[in-house]
Amino acid sequence: ESFQDVEMGEIVMANIALTRYTRPTPVQKYAIPIIKTKRDLMACAQTGSGKTAAFLLPILSQIFADGPGDALAAAKASGQDNGKYGRRKQYPMSLVLAPTRELALQIYDEARKFSYRSRVRPCVVYGGADIGQQIRDLERGCHLLVATPGRLVDMMERGKIGLDFCNYLVLDEADRMLDMGFEPQIRRIVEQDSMPCKGMRQTMMFSATFPKEIQILARDFLEDYIFLAV
Ligand code: AMP
Repeated sequence: ESFQDVEMGEIVMANIALTRYTRPTPVQKYAIPIIKTKRDLMACAQTGSGKTAAFLLPILSQIFADGPGDALAAAKASGQDNGKYGRRKQYPMSLVLAPTRELALQIYDEARKFSYRSRVRPCVVYGGADIGQQIRDLERGCHLLVATPGRLVDMMERGKIGLDFCNYLVLDEADRMLDMGFEPQIRRIVEQDSMPCKGMRQTMMFSATFPKEIQILARDFLEDYIFLAV
């Protein structure tokens, strides 16, 4: 088994080589090919299993192939958006929701490694830190956003983030996000009108456990999904 078994493009392969990950972990071995087929995924995996790279690698490989920002540029160039897409607002192609600042930062660090020497710019926003600085960072460009739910709702209300072009959505440690009481914020984000609806976007949920509340979230957010337990 190696990362060469699945086609992920030159940039991703070069960056995997830089991280010195030699062999895929089990969740990577099974989840990456599923995500590459564009199916929605519900994966039960623990922290430490390598789940972060399991979703970042195929998503980044797809964003590199799609061309970061091309859909937004085309929509603006068409002249038909009537200024709908704000100039100082960012439209990430991928959103990763995480329960805590620590996890968000870990995912962001991993995203930076795997997007090295590419046109993709990852950003991270989380609560309990200066929002002005996070806004200035977003305004430098954001193709992949890692966020805690409360801070993202705040950013959306301030008109800093639009999800109109968010084709890849990840809910990481979904059970912990529910335990922390983030369900209203998560539903606000995922069920807002501008977010591509399920079936149009690709949605991946990761959770250590699979209780009733997570099954309901999976039913509401995922379309015809594959269930993976490692
Ligand atoms: P995660 O479960 O995504 O938080 O990853 C746990 C740790 O394993 C992180 O420090 C990763 O950098 C590391 N890791 C992830 N995938 C691999 C791999 N294929 N080989 C070696 N280390 C890995």
